[in-house]
Amino acid sequence: MTMIAPGGRIGILGDGQLGRMMALAAAEMGYFVHIYGPEKNSPAAQVSHMSTVGRYDDKRALKAFAKSIDVVTLEFENIPTETLEYLSQFVPVRPGRNLLEITQDRLMEKSFINNLGIGTAPFSNVESIDDLVQAVQQIGTPAVLKTRRFGYDGKGQIKITQASQIDDAWEAVKMAPSILEGFVKFKMELSVIVARSTNGKTEVYIPVENRHKNHILDVTLAPADIPEDLANEAMEMAEKIAKKIKLAGLLAVEMFVTNDREILVNELAPRPHNSGHWTIEACATSQFKQIIRAVCGLPLGNADRHSNAMMKNLIGNDVDGVSKIVKDPANSLHLYGKAEAREGRKMGHFTRLLPLDNKPTP
Ligand code: AMP
Repeated sequence: MTMIAPGGRIGILGDGQLGRMMALAAAEMGYFVHIYGPEKNSPAAQVSHMSTVGRYDDKRALKAFAKSIDVVTLEFENIPTETLEYLSQFVPVRPGRNLLEITQDRLMEKSFINNLGIGTAPFSNVESIDDLVQAVQQIGTPAVLKTRRFGYDGKGQIKITQASQIDDAWEAVKMAPSILEGFVKFKMELSVIVARSTNGKTEVYIPVENRHKNHILDVTLAPADIPEDLANEAMEMAEKIAKKIKLAGLLAVEMFVTNDREILVNELAPRPHNSGHWTIEACATSQFKQIIRAVCGLPLGNADRHSNAMMKNLIGNDVDGVSKIVKDPANSLHLYGKAEAREGRKMGHFTRLLPLDNKPTP
């Protein structure tokens, strides 16, 4: 595989804050970035060399985009796989269609993970109200009904605590193909980010703890306060998934730690992840520089951290507190260039570093 050296041109599908931070990292390394996404003046386009506003099924625009770049990657996992297939005629696409096919469908994703011998919450396929009735009998309550596709930040999911809620839950997911998952009484939510280069080498970031508010990530604590053997187990799981899937890029693996110290995988994200933003300040190579290295076929950077860290998201009106946050010299502020602070919208984040022997707290 030929390396795309600094000075090369990277295309990114998707135009949000992840694309913005990828573009900034790429620019620092001397690459030129071309953003392709639906929004005008998007967070990513604001900081990129070129941008195209286009739909993911606009073949003319996609072809022109592909001809202007040396490699294409993505910041958003719900890019139609047909788009990746089409682009791959003209330019290498990393990660490829196979990984996206798996991560876009919760049923395929969880089955794939279980087939590797890695645990998940118990789940059952639900395509009809009869399936749901049966699944609730089999899995019990509480349980969570999740649409197989297009769910994020708690969207497309509903908790079922008793059988009488089955009809309402089925309505709530609009009768879309779904899975019913057993509700995990977790002690902690973790994530591990793994990078794999086109030459098969991997680098794994330490497990971090994620705390959510209203189903949206609120705070990440790096590292997670767990015993070393559990941390190693979590990292090995992420690495195993990356290898089996022949990842070329970055994969975030969201996990639960149960009260019995068992690690269950919840979800995969084939891109940089909100829980990896702390790596910008605290690691030798940030997750954003790492994905650029991975998709360009460069040797991966060292994922070790030189500091512990706490990352806090600024959601919706939290952004009103920016002048206070920025006044504290210990806070590293990132804003995403979004004009309007809507409820639940990720507007920015800040990170605080701590010495390696200090436990991070919110
Ligand atoms: P997801 O969209 O699958 O990442 O779920 C979003 C959040 O909902 C997770 O980070 C958990 O906090 C919670 N959640 C999802 N699935 C389960 C489950 N099976 N048991 C307990 N909590 C869950």
